[in-house]
Amino acid sequence: MRSAKPVLTIHLFGLEVSVMASAAALTMVLMVAAAGLRLMRGGSLLGAVGFGLGVAVVHTGSCLGHHLGHAFAARLTGFPMQGIVAKDLIWRSAYPQNEPILPSLVHAKRALGGPAASLVLTGVSVVAWLATRAGPIELRRLMLVAMIDTGVVFSLGSLLPLGFTDGSTLLNLLRWGRPEK
Ligand SMILES: [Zn+2]
Repeated sequence: MRSAKPVLTIHLFGLEVSVMASAAALTMVLMVAAAGLRLMRGGSLLGAVGFGLGVAVVHTGSCLGHHLGHAFAARLTGFPMQGIVAKDLIWRSAYPQNEPILPSLVHAKRALGGPAASLVLTGVSVVAWLATRAGPIELRRLMLVAMIDTGVVFSLGSLLPLGFTDGSTLLNLLRWGRPEK
């Protein structure tokens, strides 16, 4: 089966970021849904559009920050990441296919880099939320979205053993000494 081609490829900090059509489409859906929700809650059209755009930017930043955390940790281990595949709403880190068998500790450090970066971003979001408490409602709601996205989805959520998460990688390392079943 032929794998899908990215609609856009960006080079960032030595990483190849491949943006797949599903990521672009679902980010648009997220943006429209967020704007629609604000309108339904009585927001102005301009405020709703700004909120929708903001949610798309915050989520993209959340994904990118999480995976740059993996990349940073991977670089520290001496076995760097190759790139990031932006697919759907939760992206994935890409490692070279011809890697040797690596010690569990290397996999564990690389897996923990993402949630660690998301935790730092959660702290930044909390500070931003506190700093904008007197600001417009759209901005306050946006900071709340940033806290939930970085804190609940990408910090705690990524550590749950859901099969495709960092939590699963860590659990597999504990059980079988390798990152995948
Ligand atoms: Zn991760």
